[in-house]
Amino acid sequence: MNEWETVIGLEIHAQLATASKIFSAASTQYGAEPNRHACVVDLGMPGVLPVLNRAAVNMAIRFGVAIGAEIGHESVFARKNYFYPDLPKGYQISQFEFPIVGRGQISISLDEQNRKQIGITRAHLEEDAGKSIHDQFPAQSGIDLNRAGTPLLEIVSEPDMRSAKEAVAYARKIHSLVRYLEICDGNMQEGSFRCDANVSVRRKGDEKLGTRAELKNINSFRFIERAINYEVERQIDLIEDGGSVVQETRLYDSERDETRSMRSKEEANDYRYFPDPDLLPVVVTAKDIERIRAALPELPEQKQQRYISEYGLSNDNAELLVANRDTALYFEAACNNSAAPVAQLANWILGDLAGALNKSGLEISDSPVSAEMLALLVERIADNTISGKIAKQVFEAMWQGEGDPDAIIEARGLKQITDSGAIELLIDEVIAANPEQVEQFRAGKDKVLGFFVGQIMKQSQGKANPGQVNAILREKLKH
Ligand code: ADP
Ligand code: MG
Repeated sequence: MNEWETVIGLEIHAQLATASKIFSAASTQYGAEPNRHACVVDLGMPGVLPVLNRAAVNMAIRFGVAIGAEIGHESVFARKNYFYPDLPKGYQISQFEFPIVGRGQISISLDEQNRKQIGITRAHLEEDAGKSIHDQFPAQSGIDLNRAGTPLLEIVSEPDMRSAKEAVAYARKIHSLVRYLEICDGNMQEGSFRCDANVSVRRKGDEKLGTRAELKNINSFRFIERAINYEVERQIDLIEDGGSVVQETRLYDSERDETRSMRSKEEANDYRYFPDPDLLPVVVTAKDIERIRAALPELPEQKQQRYISEYGLSNDNAELLVANRDTALYFEAACNNSAAPVAQLANWILGDLAGALNKSGLEISDSPVSAEMLALLVERIADNTISGKIAKQVFEAMWQGEGDPDAIIEARGLKQITDSGAIELLIDEVIAANPEQVEQFRAGKDKVLGFFVGQIMKQSQGKANPGQVNAILREKLKH
């Protein structure tokens, strides 16, 4: 494997979060009854005319500005002609020669030290097609045109990625960015964020790119990695066995974890692109661009820097918090008006909370423990009401919906014992019950200290303040 180099370029379709379609007034709402949201324009009726949705244009510009790309001052819609039952007009309105967003770049982080710039070739606006439904009517296919005419931004990368991991990091970065920009909901299950991976291999040192296969039907980040890895192995095996890769589109089958040929280059369509005579070029002025630039929200990298300088977070934690916009919003809501130490809050969000969410398959926006409640819990650790260990119990109870931390601490009697008289009593009991260990300690066996602490904590059901226990215990054992 070592003499081979993998080359990957991604084409990402991000569904733009407009209320209505790109060329009609029909709703873009997901999940409606079939063909409820398909008007005469989406149905491709003769004589109807498309009218461009300005909101989709502004969202595309927003993306372009955020990646420092050139914005096309006069971009042009073109017809991409092909036949398919879910494409009633017989062509898709897209952009070809003159896309709205030109060259830009985005930086991905590979590990703590290494970042890499990935080139973005272009991003263009287009309309989505409808859906063919093959599993509802025996021997017949259904056509649902609700999705027809939904605005898409197709983001095309340069073939700059060199491993499946890099491709996933890039896809995640774009995903995070479109969510921050609020131009796409990023829902991969519903198909609002789709990824095609172009994959080729070449011998290390070769200048020329190998022949590529385009992988479609990948609907999760995990599958991007798997599909690419499978495909890379397939291509290397093929070449090493004396064969050669043919340029084709392949479908990823996640159940079998393999890619299968869908159509070859020979069967590929000649799309006969030409400018759509029904639509004028889209004119974007410098003023439009400036207005959109001025309204950009704080972006992940800026946020990350702010978390480091303002809150003193580590680079790693700051990066983890900003990777997902909802996590960053949760963190900020938790910090807001809270006396909880920020670094501890970050640890709770990235540790216990992330673990619990992951285990139950929930998104942070659906967390049963709100940001305010988590902040309260961390405050109670900081003000010594409970220990960090007991806090885990309280968190568990909050997760189960037992109320706010103070109520849980009260109801379950979990308050930390900080009364030194009470702690002394506990210690005396444990010392009296274990004379042998006391001898061992006095003979220089420091390790038994841990045994005593363990016993005392057990006696107090974890509620004794560990710092006090340690200090008082040492004092008492000396004599
Ligand atoms: P098409 O229009 O046929 O989809 P493009 O030239 O626009 O082809 O390329 C589409 C994607 O394929 C881009 O993301 C590009 O980076 C990537 N790509 C092109 N050539 C290769 C290659 N040899 N290996 C891997 N990716 C490639
Ligand atoms: Mg393509």
